[in-house]
Amino acid sequence: MRASRTAIAPTGWDGPGTPGDLAQSLLQWFSTEARDLPWRRTRNPYGIWVSEIMLQQTQVQTVIPYWNRWMEAFPDVHALATASEERVLKQWEGLGYYSRARNLQRAAARIVGSEAGRFPDTVESLLEMPGIGRYTAGAIASIAFNRPAPILDGNVIRVLTRLLALRGDPRTRLLQEILWARAQDLVTASEGRGDVRMPWGERLGDCSALNQSLMELGATVCLPKGARCEICPLQTRCRARAEGTQERYPETTPRPAPIQKVHAAVVVEHAGRMWVRQRPAGVVNAGFWEFPGLEIPDTFDSVRQHVARWLSVPEDRLAPLAPIRHAITRYRIRLESFHTTGIGRPDVLGSAGRWVDHRELEVLAFTAAHRRIVRLLPKAAVPAA
Ligand code: SF4
Repeated sequence: MRASRTAIAPTGWDGPGTPGDLAQSLLQWFSTEARDLPWRRTRNPYGIWVSEIMLQQTQVQTVIPYWNRWMEAFPDVHALATASEERVLKQWEGLGYYSRARNLQRAAARIVGSEAGRFPDTVESLLEMPGIGRYTAGAIASIAFNRPAPILDGNVIRVLTRLLALRGDPRTRLLQEILWARAQDLVTASEGRGDVRMPWGERLGDCSALNQSLMELGATVCLPKGARCEICPLQTRCRARAEGTQERYPETTPRPAPIQKVHAAVVVEHAGRMWVRQRPAGVVNAGFWEFPGLEIPDTFDSVRQHVARWLSVPEDRLAPLAPIRHAITRYRIRLESFHTTGIGRPDVLGSAGRWVDHRELEVLAFTAAHRRIVRLLPKAAVPAA
């Protein structure tokens, strides 16, 4: 039967084994099992910082090509600080959560300006940069500068709550404090153990390797569903495994159900050019380009009918493209898009846009959903004018 466990105090290790034993097991495991990722082949804090920001909310396999292209386009902090916003957004196109790209550039400008190009190397100085929170500061300080700074993200939370059988919602303040303290115990215990040789020959500092081993374990072994305990370096000391309760941790309170929405977008084409507009400052995805569109109210009967009324065109002049489903924060959006070669009310297009040809469509930075509309265009059945 499962032992009941009350929350332990943030100070003082109350885990199975000692932090030193666990750190040693993690480092040994990481030295043979670490994935060869491009940002693990550099100690350049700029490249590590970019990877950490890209990896927030985004899978490793998706990030790899973006990171490679970004490092080619903006090889150092100076190149990023002086690039146009349009170029920065274009490089980020498709990754979503675009404030991340803007904050990267703002922080780069600050490093080049007030820091005279010197990259901040402590948790405190990193926390002063736009877009860098406690996790990212710890990640950069440890991975790039081998400082014994703790990290705590979703993967690490899963490993620690299972290892220590920590009850309660990890978003609560008390459990957060406990988890940060335990993460600190482990990285502190790794300090002084010496560099760790990676399977591809690179050597990482001990604190850098320890934090990355925790993230790696959560990403590849201690999975949300189907933890692979039989290959886990912590298996003999893991409380959840001993209790057979791995999948009950972390005890995160489910988030409220997502809100469903329907949006419509229209590709208005005239003489081989399409009308696009740029999202204004201060709104989600500001600065990105998109096709004109609108939100469809809950009461709609037919999206096409609604759009036809909005544009004052007969319905049969709107050729439907495949619907696109995407998510923004807590919204799940079904985006219906149409192609037309003429509209009755050009005024609804507004003035904050321009006509572009197919070549320019490729150059401009679009949000991921509208980029998918661009990809649909060659297959569109264009109604006769
Ligand atoms: S033994 Fe299983 S549950 Fe425990 S840390 Fe390892 S993979 Fe996770």
